[in-house]
Amino acid sequence: MAIDLHTHSNASDGTHDPADVVAEAAHHGLTTIALTDHDTTGGWDEATAAALERGIDLVPGVEISTQHNGISVHLLAYLVDPAHPDLVAEMEHARASRDTRMERMVALLAKDGIPVTMEAVLAQAKDGATLGRPHVADALVAAGYVRTRGEAFDNLLHDRSPYYVRHYAPDVVKAVRLVRDAGGVPVMAHPFANRRGRTVTDHVIEQMAEAGLGGLEVYHRDHLGPERAHALALADRLGLFATGSSDYHGTGKENRLGENTTDPAVLAQIEEQATSGVAVVRR
Ligand code: AMP
Ligand code: ZN
Ligand code: FE
Ligand code: FE
Repeated sequence: MAIDLHTHSNASDGTHDPADVVAEAAHHGLTTIALTDHDTTGGWDEATAAALERGIDLVPGVEISTQHNGISVHLLAYLVDPAHPDLVAEMEHARASRDTRMERMVALLAKDGIPVTMEAVLAQAKDGATLGRPHVADALVAAGYVRTRGEAFDNLLHDRSPYYVRHYAPDVVKAVRLVRDAGGVPVMAHPFANRRGRTVTDHVIEQMAEAGLGGLEVYHRDHLGPERAHALALADRLGLFATGSSDYHGTGKENRLGENTTDPAVLAQIEEQATSGVAVVRR
């Protein structure tokens, strides 16, 4: 079994169609992947059809943008009811705010003579995709201004950049409760990925655990040894399970499918905890 519980398609800021992410996972010998696009379940249907065709298992999921006192926290939600009204409303709110935030970022960049327009950004995103900074990065690559997404982030788009603008995101503890209300299983993504921006304290994670958090994404490339050890000890102390995943974004990032994986016993726990009626797609 090779289980990768965190991947992105062009339903958000990945570079590949959902069906291509699934096909590539099958090609690499993975048995199971979760599709976890930012703030959308829009890729689920295509990924489901592809999983059935390719003979691999698909865990429908989403990576919800949340925050604690302005610190961004990514919350993975597995097997969640995609039609739960409050959850849908929160994701719609975040997506709408991402659109206006993008207009503001583009205006700030353009004012300093950086060659980007909203049209150029939208040209990099599939219709209806959740807009994110990677789409601006792609527009800057297309304009020949930078070579890669990474270069755009390092120079212009990182969290402390003057061009960075925040978007709406629900409070993380409320979001944990909301995912449970929607029958899903909440897992905190890359809890200590601190090289890109601020991360929350253990105390906040304790509050998330009290609200129903299921697990921590311990094995992730943005966690080095000490961060993994800390996350693992915290998960143990709080009775949370530990997942591992690639956070694959296609050609937009170096992350490779299956570079970190999740224990089958942990996936079994996720399935046991889910109450939405949404199941893992299996042949
Ligand atoms: P946003 O959703 O607009 O806040 O942008 C965050 C997204 O940008 C995350 O999904 C990251 O995967 C992606 N990202 C962050 N840093 C980098 C980087 N250096 N290179 C490529 N993608 C990145
Ligand atoms: Zn992303
Ligand atoms: Fe994330
Ligand atoms: Fe992600």
